[in-house]
Amino acid sequence: MTRPQNYSRRKFIQHTAAIAGAVISIGATRNVYALQQTRGGAEPIIDIHQHTDYHGRSHAETLAHQRTMGITHTILLPSGRPVNSDSTHGGKSNGLQAKATGNEVCYALAKQYPGEYFFGANEVSDLPDATQEIEKYLKLGAKLIGESKFGVECDSPEMQKIYQLAQTYDVPVLMHWQHNMYNYGYERFYKMLEKYPKVNFIGHAQTWWANIDKAHDDQTVLYPKSKVTAGGITDRLLADYPNMYGDMSAGSGLNSLLRDEEHAKGFLKRHQDKLLYGSDCADAVGQGDKCDGAKIIAAIRKLSPTKKIERKILYNNAKKLFRL
Ligand SMILES: [Zn+2]
Ligand SMILES: [Zn+2]
Repeated sequence: MTRPQNYSRRKFIQHTAAIAGAVISIGATRNVYALQQTRGGAEPIIDIHQHTDYHGRSHAETLAHQRTMGITHTILLPSGRPVNSDSTHGGKSNGLQAKATGNEVCYALAKQYPGEYFFGANEVSDLPDATQEIEKYLKLGAKLIGESKFGVECDSPEMQKIYQLAQTYDVPVLMHWQHNMYNYGYERFYKMLEKYPKVNFIGHAQTWWANIDKAHDDQTVLYPKSKVTAGGITDRLLADYPNMYGDMSAGSGLNSLLRDEEHAKGFLKRHQDKLLYGSDCADAVGQGDKCDGAKIIAAIRKLSPTKKIERKILYNNAKKLFRL
């Protein structure tokens, strides 16, 4: 609250106390709602997918970006440590191929903004001590493992160790699916969903979203623009496996909504309990045409068949899944 000029300190204190009294009198639930309103707009929104130092964006810019978008809760997803290996494509994929920073930065920043920032735990999946590094941050309160974005087979022994760790700590695993680049073997992934039924998996990125379409037969096409035939691999995984969720973030999530709006309405309805809002954009604007995150919120608001479905996707599903 800004204290107006020529406003006596005594009056200011009286006024502030009166407002505080009024807020307390409307009860605890409304009180929390009022706080969320002042912080992030009319309705709370959970962003499950952001990064620190994303393409060089500062912490101050990231915070302003999130607040401008109307985000009340943000999960920061760390990169693995920088290494030169096949799984990082000779170092090209370090920093999640986006200059994103790692566990310690996300953890420290989340500690500075309790209740507003949360953090994930991550490591290059095939490093010998990957699970020890991830476990260190799970013990510190990481909400999930991810984003897992490395050149490895999705059912490799190394990835399965990570799934087992997720099961032990009861946290989801968020995976970046990109054909011939990150997490190989999407068509076999259902076997992991069956082998680890207690682990919740969150699908993200180009190959995940392109495969909502049953007619998607050229896996090298990452941002298809054609109309969608329902029943693609992704549509089926969401329908058939209770432990499969979808992260709406990035250009790929946005494209999946905009390429065929009629299909999108049915898709949001079918999977209303499985879809989670994420932004994953690196801009410092937080609104308008330069911000994919803002465009995804607008698309979800436009295409959700009911207000209740919109609220599930922007807030309630993530609140429940991550126990925020
Ligand atoms: Zn990603
Ligand atoms: Zn943005």
